[in-house]
Amino acid sequence: MKNEKIPYKIYLNENEMPNAWYNLRADMKQKPAPLLNPGTLEPMKAEELAGVFCEELIRQELDNDTAYFEIPEEIRNFYKMYRPSPLVRAYCLEEKLDTPAHIYYKFEGNNTSGSHKLNSAIAQAYYAKKQGLKGVTTETGAGQWGTALSMACSYFGLDCRVYMVKCSYEQKPFRREVMRTYGASVTPSPSTETEVGRKILAEHPNTTGSLGCAISEAVEKAVSSDGYRYVLGSVLNQVLLHQSVIGLETKAALDKYGVKPDIIIGCAGGGSNLGGLIAPFMGEKLRGEADYRIVAVEPASCPSFTRGVYAYDFCDTGMVCPLSKMYTLGSGFIPSANHAGGLRYHGMSSTLSELYHQGLMEAVSVKQTEVFEAAEYFARIEGILPAPESSHAIRAAIDEAVRCKETKEEKTIVFGLTGTGYFDMVAYEKFHNGEMNDSIPTDEELAVYRSQLPRVE
Ligand SMILES: *Cc1c(COP(=O)(O)O)cnc(C)c1O
Repeated sequence: MKNEKIPYKIYLNENEMPNAWYNLRADMKQKPAPLLNPGTLEPMKAEELAGVFCEELIRQELDNDTAYFEIPEEIRNFYKMYRPSPLVRAYCLEEKLDTPAHIYYKFEGNNTSGSHKLNSAIAQAYYAKKQGLKGVTTETGAGQWGTALSMACSYFGLDCRVYMVKCSYEQKPFRREVMRTYGASVTPSPSTETEVGRKILAEHPNTTGSLGCAISEAVEKAVSSDGYRYVLGSVLNQVLLHQSVIGLETKAALDKYGVKPDIIIGCAGGGSNLGGLIAPFMGEKLRGEADYRIVAVEPASCPSFTRGVYAYDFCDTGMVCPLSKMYTLGSGFIPSANHAGGLRYHGMSSTLSELYHQGLMEAVSVKQTEVFEAAEYFARIEGILPAPESSHAIRAAIDEAVRCKETKEEKTIVFGLTGTGYFDMVAYEKFHNGEMNDSIPTDEELAVYRSQLPRVE
């Protein structure tokens, strides 16, 4: 087995796909801190969350002990339409870099939504349907999550209401039309449909919207409409659980050829793809069975791990959601307008935050011009046009491979290639025209938002 030549693409067959998601928290001795009720500062109870989220998803969210959750057959059947996703050996990239390192990437862009987000969207839509709901509401910034959710909702016959950040709604008409093709209603946010939207419009009539505002609108719509709940595409424990399908497939594919990675790299926005990719590997690490270097890559313009603080904060700018303990820049922080690389969230998954806090993983930040250089380099060599988000991981993987050349080490690097960049050509255009620069927040700017963190004793 060991000496068998590894193919360019390692596919699993259908019956090698995972039957259960893996819950990383079950193997953590020190668990992630609980969500807190912003009014009482007490841990959120299932009953308190029930008006906003679906029942089964709340159960998954709060369960720190069950290691495996069976993937319902209906979801497995949907997964089979676009999974298993390929694990690619980047032979061409290795050769071009002239590195002794072995590089693999797990490609999640082979579905119409174009990213890994569909893995959780289909699960969330399934549980909403099973609960007998009429529909779900959500927000979308760049549009990937809204697209994935529209696909999932149309499959199960659920209504899908997406609040899309207004500037994105105007700049990305194609994303919007994909969502409408799948039957979703897409509303530019802020809108006049909700109280919070009307209030924001009255105060700032020319605003182009923000993710925080769109979240507040989607939550208000869900709680005030009969038979609706709110769903979220990243950050939450349940989303990391569903995304563990990425890591489980990756590990199964590598195990087929007896390959043990040394370094596992993923981009980090809210942490869901990274949390999913590393899940089974981190599990082995937590149980003392193996050791891996695990690296989160974030934009220098939104550096929550590398320059944030580990503290309780609001998950949204509107301050309506529970408090989460995480690495955060402060809920008021918004990355500079010329940041085009995605991963704009001010905080981070509480599970990954706790693992990082314990020193079980590392984080690096990279500048966006260097990210787009890596994206273009990769597109020309490996053929895939990557999403800007995914290209953060490409940047870090190339840097590690170059270091291996210097030290003459034959390390195995695995990274997550979360999506395609077809809807991000405006960002690529900026890069090509030399109009992209690196705006990195100063310590003084970060201190302002840090000083506004809620006080939790
Ligand atoms: C949403 C998204 C990300 C970042 O989200 P995580 O929750 O951190 O994974 C990364 N890549 C792509 C393509 C995305 O759409």
